[in-house]
Amino acid sequence: MRIVFLGAPGSGKGTQAKRLEADRNIPQISTGDMLRAAVAAGTRFGQQARDIMDAGQLVSDDIMLGIISERLAEPDAEEGFILDGFPRTEKQAQDLEDLLDQLGKPLDAVIQMDVDFDILSKRLTGRRTCSLTGKLLNIHFSTQEELDACTDAGGELIQRDDDNAETIANRLDVYRQQTEPLIEYYRSRDRLKTVDADGSMDEVYERLLAVL
Ligand code: AMP
Repeated sequence: MRIVFLGAPGSGKGTQAKRLEADRNIPQISTGDMLRAAVAAGTRFGQQARDIMDAGQLVSDDIMLGIISERLAEPDAEEGFILDGFPRTEKQAQDLEDLLDQLGKPLDAVIQMDVDFDILSKRLTGRRTCSLTGKLLNIHFSTQEELDACTDAGGELIQRDDDNAETIANRLDVYRQQTEPLIEYYRSRDRLKTVDADGSMDEVYERLLAVL
């Protein structure tokens, strides 16, 4: 199964993609995670990427194509993959189509994670990761027990650098202007499946399985 998750920052695509990865045994490929790894590694490219990410802007299409072509050539992606955060522009979508055509492995589906814009902002400002377990939490939506379980065990609730109010506003703008047009792009190619992504993690996952 070769699928793309399309959705605004905070739509929950990463969470659902990870769950699907565990269930179906195909890799979740998050370009955001790959870029954050480059930032953490402190390479020159990582430093450039950090500035772009901190501003809530997009890394160039050419660089992204290079990253994704290399990643899709790895053996674990042979039987399928879940793209999370790529493509984000029409040029990236076209590049991906060309790349997969060359490999003779077209996409099976594009999942649009549909959430109200008001909810997105709360999800993003409240988003935290437990430093001990890597578990994704939210100070607005997780229960106190869930939050305490992390801190009581000595963990810290870490906020992503780009989850601050100003960067969030930019990321949502960039999504509207550059990524949202991909909904029509994939609808016109008969690949689009829309999931109502407003609900608990379990509810949304059930809906996702139903459309797949
Ligand atoms: P994410 O974790 O998917 O929200 O991505 C975090 C940041 O990484 C984005 O705000 C962009 O700056 C950058 N990024 C991730 N994926 C892409 C992509 N496909 N094209 C350009 N920039 C990207």
